[in-house]
Amino acid sequence: MQKVGYWMLCLVAITWFSVGGCQRQSVTSPEPIWRGANRPGFGVAPVPEPQAIQPPVVSLPPLITGNPWKPSVPLRDWKHIVIHHTASESGNVETINSAHLARKDSKTGKAWLGIGYHFLIGNGNGMADGEIEPTFRWRQQMHGAHAGVEEYNQHGIGICLVGNFENHRPSSAQLAAVKRLVGVLKSEYHISSSKVVGHRSVKSTACPGKLFPLDEIAQTNDLPLLGKRESELQLQFVKAEGSTLE
Ligand SMILES: [Zn+2]
Repeated sequence: MQKVGYWMLCLVAITWFSVGGCQRQSVTSPEPIWRGANRPGFGVAPVPEPQAIQPPVVSLPPLITGNPWKPSVPLRDWKHIVIHHTASESGNVETINSAHLARKDSKTGKAWLGIGYHFLIGNGNGMADGEIEPTFRWRQQMHGAHAGVEEYNQHGIGICLVGNFENHRPSSAQLAAVKRLVGVLKSEYHISSSKVVGHRSVKSTACPGKLFPLDEIAQTNDLPLLGKRESELQLQFVKAEGSTLE
């Protein structure tokens, strides 16, 4: 009887230890149940293997001065901008240069030096629509031969658009171009909107035509001068040349 009791006691002890061990395992390591959007990685783009990141090779762009037509010679003392039209339906710097070389100054009789404007803006016939081409007078910062009035020839930047704006408006490309050009020149040379005039404002002429939107162009907002170096703001002016009425 004592032997049976001993074996019963051993059986109870083994059962108790084995059950206790399993219970401890199930309590300390619960397996999480992931469902739907809660499961790991749901809706998240796979993360690529980490790699060595090479910095991009960047070459610095050239300094933007805001004035692509900046001349390489000392600036002239510009005070006005005078707008013209060619009153013709085609033309370019070469054809107008040839025509103006044949002209003579009404007072002095001296032949013109060439095209009288500082800038020409094309209309697609002779040069590209909206193309802006500076002439030798701008590159060399010379007086103009476009206004027929001393003050405006000496101190007025002459801009001419190819076309006859008595008959039609400038093309949209021409308007965009002349706005950009006038905006830069106003800002660069501190010319106010009231100093942007049509040829007819200074001389008896229809130029630049009744359909040219002069007020809209004159009011063009000044464009910011980006990346301007301080030294470049020390404007140097050349003294205006003597009297000339080419
Ligand atoms: Zn004119």
